Amino acid sequence: MEQEIQQKLESFRELNKKIRSYYEAVSLMAWDLRTGAPRKGAETRAETIGVLSTESFKLQTSREMGELLGVLNRPEVLKQLDDVNRRIVEDVQEEYDRSVKIPADKYQEYVTLTSHAETLWEDFKENCDFAGFEPYLTQIVAKTQEFIDYWGPRATRYDTLLHMYEPELTTTKLDEVFGQLRDRLVPLVEAVQSAPDKPKSEFLNQLFDKDQQEKFSKFLLEQIGYDFDAGRIDESVHPFATGLNPGDVRITTHYLQDDVASAVFSSLHEGGHALYEQNISPELTGTPLAQGTSMGIHESQSRFWENMIGRSRAFWDRYYSELQSHFPEQLAQVKVEDFHRAINRVENSLIRIEADELTYNLHIIIRYEIEKMLFNENLDVKELPRVWNEKYEQYLGIIPPNDGVGVLQDVHWSGGSFGYFPSYALGNMYAAQIENTIRKEIPNFEGLIAEGNFAPIKDWLTDKVYKYGKSRKPAELIKAITGEDLNPDYLADYLEKKYKAIYNL
Ligand code: ZN
Repeated sequence: MEQEIQQKLESFRELNKKIRSYYEAVSLMAWDLRTGAPRKGAETRAETIGVLSTESFKLQTSREMGELLGVLNRPEVLKQLDDVNRRIVEDVQEEYDRSVKIPADKYQEYVTLTSHAETLWEDFKENCDFAGFEPYLTQIVAKTQEFIDYWGPRATRYDTLLHMYEPELTTTKLDEVFGQLRDRLVPLVEAVQSAPDKPKSEFLNQLFDKDQQEKFSKFLLEQIGYDFDAGRIDESVHPFATGLNPGDVRITTHYLQDDVASAVFSSLHEGGHALYEQNISPELTGTPLAQGTSMGIHESQSRFWENMIGRSRAFWDRYYSELQSHFPEQLAQVKVEDFHRAINRVENSLIRIEADELTYNLHIIIRYEIEKMLFNENLDVKELPRVWNEKYEQYLGIIPPNDGVGVLQDVHWSGGSFGYFPSYALGNMYAAQIENTIRKEIPNFEGLIAEGNFAPIKDWLTDKVYKYGKSRKPAELIKAITGEDLNPDYLADYLEKKYKAIYNL
């Protein structure tokens, strides 16, 4: 490589490391805000985060960055770079293009509007006041439409938004996979609802000591291979995972005294996100590739550990007696098969985040269809409650009694996150597709779970998914692992098999 190129590459890596350092500082401050920072310091902290984020944004869109990309992103130069450096250049170029296209004042207006709306949303939701929220949402949609013009519409306007969370994903593809999924899940949900033999789950809602729940959650995280020397677990209202760098990936959970399952499954879920980031190849540390490749793939890893492993019968054959020993009074009389059925109980409910594994996907399909109408068909924001309620009746057979448990239930739209929801269902589909492959490549998959021997499973996932971080695109990754493109049949097959057994259909 020419010396000049070598020098440019070094400056480029240095600049990206600086940006990554801002990211780490901001993420750590945000983690701290949500896990017990003193309330009186919160406002100043939010400002500090704002200042550091702006500095980082300036570096990302700086003239220096533009010039370095101008040299490094030339075809003849790209050819000389190794795979990792080439992928970094391509990734940074994409971010750069996206950022420089939005005029700074427009961006500032948008940030102010959405952070304001996010704060107000909680009250509007609480008071079931869609009319109050509507003017904000109308503005957010209008500004997002403006941004789509700056970025340049892809096949459709909504495709531009999808691409930000799941690169190269299109509405054409999603219409196809969600259509297939919907056609198979709606009858399955109906069959489950009319099944005579429904699981009982009241015993999950006795009083469960918090300290014991905490001990058990930590124990499970150790079991699946979460590295406590490269992370820690705390409590927060909404559980989350945050990767500062591969050596520091933190998670939170929450303990509900009257629901023993909640902490178990949120710990496994966030633990799944964390296993991904803890096992990214060290050579990517300090680069923009040291993170999950997309929201959908990230979610596939949390769902894999939470549902495919954590809600399986094999898992509880191994761990139920441990759980009983923490809660002998509450669970001594409950058999493992009843416990397993209870944690897999299906209920057509109004709230996405409380939904079971089966109906969850329908909640997402509803949001996807509505977002598409907003951006591709100019659906008037005023019409949202009506459209929302019609779809809930159509897909889940229930009509929200008010907008608080209907159209206002999620924070996403108030923050301008349109195109994000599909990631959750994609996560489920990717997870099932990956599980299908793992069962072929590790024939003793279920036996390993029943032994609590997760190292071979974690190693397999590290080799196929985790180590690559963001250096492989989601579509590329899924094709390399499973030999085919995203295919919703694996999820439908998995759910059919599972729920037919649980509901004796
Ligand atoms: Zn998640």
